[in-house]
Amino acid sequence: MAPKNHPTPLSGGDRKALAKELGKARAMTSVLARRSEELRAEGEALIRKADGMLCESWNEKMWAGGGPIDPSPTIDQATNGGYSWLQIECSRCKAARDVDIAALAHPSTTFVHDLASRLRCRKCAKASRRPPATLLQLARRAREMPDT
Ligand SMILES: [Zn+2]
Repeated sequence: MAPKNHPTPLSGGDRKALAKELGKARAMTSVLARRSEELRAEGEALIRKADGMLCESWNEKMWAGGGPIDPSPTIDQATNGGYSWLQIECSRCKAARDVDIAALAHPSTTFVHDLASRLRCRKCAKASRRPPATLLQLARRAREMPDT
């Protein structure tokens, strides 16, 4: 973009005033941009905190009563809040598994509770059964599990 052309005022005093105003405006450009960046970072940190708290809330509900699983955070909210693992158990054979929900092919706007019917137990699949998964907890990392 071509630089904006401010018409040069006739009087020397006005020229000085214009130069001063232009200098101020240019300085404010970076001050405001920096402040905007700072506020955006603060906002994003708050959203991360809110998303993490939503996962903790869901975990408490699941721990206390085992459900209802709906409502639940979305995959996006869970991963943004630091909870990218979902601990599940097969409703039929009780095999435990940890699922990296960020790595799933489902859109990130999918609700965690909608995964119950979509996550299948490999063992039961071999026996041609398709039992839904029982959702247990969202977690920050995978559990240490002997060969699953
Ligand atoms: Zn199973």
